[in-house]
Amino acid sequence: MTVETFTPNKTTTLETPIKILEADSPVQKTKGTRIGFVSLGCPKNLVDSERILTQLRTEGYDVVPTYNDSDLVIVNTCGFIDSAVQESLDTIGEALAENGKVIVTGCLGIKEDEIREVHPNVLAITGPHAYEEVVNQVHQHLPQPEHNPYLNLVPDIGIKLTPRHYAYLKISEGCNHRCTFCIIPSMRGDLVSRPIGSILDEAQRLKNAGVKELLVISQDTSAYGVDVKNKTDFWNGMPVKTDMKSLCEKLGEMGIWVRLHYVYPYPSVDKIMPLMAEGKILPYLDIPFQHASPRILKLMKRPAAAERTMDRIRAWREVCPDIVIRSTFIVGFPGETEEDFQMLLDFLDEAQLDRVGCFKYSDVDGAKANDLPDPVSEDLKQLRYNRFMEKQSEISTAKLQAKIGLEYQVIIDEVTPEGAVGRCYADAPEIDGNVHLTDEFDVEPGDIIWAQIIHSNEYDLWAVKVDDDEDVELTEEL
Ligand code: SF4
Repeated sequence: MTVETFTPNKTTTLETPIKILEADSPVQKTKGTRIGFVSLGCPKNLVDSERILTQLRTEGYDVVPTYNDSDLVIVNTCGFIDSAVQESLDTIGEALAENGKVIVTGCLGIKEDEIREVHPNVLAITGPHAYEEVVNQVHQHLPQPEHNPYLNLVPDIGIKLTPRHYAYLKISEGCNHRCTFCIIPSMRGDLVSRPIGSILDEAQRLKNAGVKELLVISQDTSAYGVDVKNKTDFWNGMPVKTDMKSLCEKLGEMGIWVRLHYVYPYPSVDKIMPLMAEGKILPYLDIPFQHASPRILKLMKRPAAAERTMDRIRAWREVCPDIVIRSTFIVGFPGETEEDFQMLLDFLDEAQLDRVGCFKYSDVDGAKANDLPDPVSEDLKQLRYNRFMEKQSEISTAKLQAKIGLEYQVIIDEVTPEGAVGRCYADAPEIDGNVHLTDEFDVEPGDIIWAQIIHSNEYDLWAVKVDDDEDVELTEEL
């Protein structure tokens, strides 16, 4: 488990993606084609960045790691909460000061006036997932290089900002819900599901390019296909329904790890439990419950607020006893009483969730929740946060301790001077814990090995490799 929740402030900076991009491109950079790229915000934004960069690289532009080396800088912004807006504005300012030629895109792009007020000299501003617009703007300010197929071969996979062995697979844009603390629907619009055939094509390409773990993301993964009435599409010449179950079935046939994020506890999720129990997709669900008090959930206008969550979790565990549930919660939402908060702590006790993140409520510019009465004081928010973390830390420590002696498949993320660091099926990259294989150097990132757990703390596990002779086949038991 991790207590470090997703935060829109967690950024991918110029350096991180470029390190990966540089490895892909040993080619001499040509003046007049060099683009710097800063990607801020959540994994969904990261996917947008990947698409923009893929297109630019396909057209022959070079991507470079420093402001100085760039002929133009693109900043993909986040506008989720006030601090993310500020960070985006600061980053634009930095890019302008260091380079001078800046195109802004991403969530904050819908607030053009706000950006222009602070930074009147940016070259262009486009909104979220406006890939074509961004690329068109680049053409205007940096003429398109002559295509040279020998220098500008883009791998089939496109440009990835994540390590080579895992990739985010975005299945839809927008959201039909209207949670009172969130402004994503006003920025990204209602749910638009991608055609299932195109998602499966992308998944297949990623697998062919060496990706071993797919992280399925969207604003509401369980709603996939609802906007197109679950219509039948085609993939590889075969009919396939546009819904979460069909998507999971098909992804599950690819023989790689498939991990679901941002799922809501709807009855439709029951249908994918057998796939998890059979090891077709990872028995891992990321469900942002946000609270447990029905009154607060109603004030939040949360999807599935009326569902009997505890009953549902019990039923899932009956079908798939190994299921790991990750969630995030908000404490100090306006109107939250001690009784509401106690319900949340009781829920943690009862639900025994594996991985939990928590954040203190804060106003988001433009969100309906800002107008709710009875705000909780900052001191009380902090106290509740501390009590929440203390409770979850006990639960997590006990849950991880119970794994000592058990064997799991571990996917290796990196090999450090101290040894290898990886994750088992219970750990999503960047947000959950790690499995440390101290003094293990005979592995490479992306390898999947069996390991026996020998030690634990409240978030992480330590393990030793077993089955020395050969790596385990992905299709075997998880
Ligand atoms: S489900 Fe709620 S929190 Fe999530 S994107 Fe939709 S409106 Fe925002």
